[in-house]
Amino acid sequence: MTSKNDILFERAQRSTPGGVNSPVRAFRSVGGTPRFITRAEGPYFWDADDTRYIDYIGSWGPAIVGHAHPEVIHAVQQAAASGLSFGAPTEAEVIMAEELCRLVPGVEQVRLVSSGTEATMSALRLARGATKRDKIIKFEGCYHGHADSLLVKAGSGLLTFGNPTSAGVPEDFSKHTVVLDYNNSAQLEEVFASIGDQIACVIVEPVAGNMNLIRATQEFLQTMRDLCTRHGSILIFDEVMCGFRVGLHGAQALYNIQADLVCMGKIIGGGLPVAAFGGRADIMAHMAPVGGVYQAGTLSGNPVAVAAGLTTLRLIQQAGFYETLSEQTSRLASGLAVAGRAAGHAVSADSVGGMFGIYFSEEIPASYAAMMASDKNKFNRFFHLMLNEGVYLAPSAFEAGFVSIQHTDSVIDATLQAAAAAFSKL
Ligand code: PMP
Repeated sequence: MTSKNDILFERAQRSTPGGVNSPVRAFRSVGGTPRFITRAEGPYFWDADDTRYIDYIGSWGPAIVGHAHPEVIHAVQQAAASGLSFGAPTEAEVIMAEELCRLVPGVEQVRLVSSGTEATMSALRLARGATKRDKIIKFEGCYHGHADSLLVKAGSGLLTFGNPTSAGVPEDFSKHTVVLDYNNSAQLEEVFASIGDQIACVIVEPVAGNMNLIRATQEFLQTMRDLCTRHGSILIFDEVMCGFRVGLHGAQALYNIQADLVCMGKIIGGGLPVAAFGGRADIMAHMAPVGGVYQAGTLSGNPVAVAAGLTTLRLIQQAGFYETLSEQTSRLASGLAVAGRAAGHAVSADSVGGMFGIYFSEEIPASYAAMMASDKNKFNRFFHLMLNEGVYLAPSAFEAGFVSIQHTDSVIDATLQAAAAAFSKL
């Protein structure tokens, strides 16, 4: 019998490039047919054939309280009943901004947008406007959305498809983007020593999740902080993925390092389109309508999306939330590594808060180069074996995984059982 997923994929490819609306959803690197999802609940989703999967992508981060959480759904339904969008301010946006300022260290003001891409793109423009400098520093393997200046040696789908720099970005734009090695402090120091006074900002994923999970070293982030301060450059932490994921106060709290601007997204929308950028009030004062850096959005601060976000932010502040989430995620990661090694494979795993990485390499990679050296083909086979066992991992060796609070002990146990079966067939 032909799968409904196959039929849908066939149809989708006729009307949409590659059949998907975001490249990483296609199974391009792992091969096969993407699953078309019909519904989701807690840690699970179901595809067009009504096959159930334990979901470890969680919408690529937002689903931290589990899918279709009753309180989030209720808040969305209530907000929707009062109107979908007004193009005028609401109290909920004020509460959202206050909440983000309260929870994210060093953030005195925020601007709400609708996607992580808008957040990083706008933060970059702000940094350039505020410093009156053009050059930016980013790191190889970090993904910051698809704004032109940032699609240079990027991670996520670009890495997965082996084309880390997008076509269609004029050299006139990309020449202002200096791409350096992640976790290489000496190189960063050299570059600042030669062109420090031209650098508007450094943008970094302080816990990288777009070349699989790679932790920044304390020294790397501290060096970055010190150099930015010394040279008057703005330090931007892109916490679109790791914010509210590695802990309630994000990577800044984890490393005890304060950025000047922070980009947020994913979790703060609880599954609907909300993202934000914010930081020092003196920098944010450059934003229109107060200052000269322009940025806007028809659906920015959308009332239905903000209702989902505010409810999610309330749920993650319940006592013990992050302790439980970290424990579950760490049990999953160590269990996967143990199962892999028990079956004779070179497998390692790591987790920070509610995000994890599984690597087909002896050691946990600490750099982009080490990550690239892992066994991608083996991951691809493992991915399909897990899918057959009812576990949906990110369809790429270069993506991190996400656990929700609904991935309880029994769900983790079922996943580890599936992994043992998959590793034995690998
Ligand atoms: N920054 C980071 C660190 C991300 O992980 C992502 C998306 N995965 C983005 C920015 C872009 O966000 P969006 O897809 O919402 O535009």
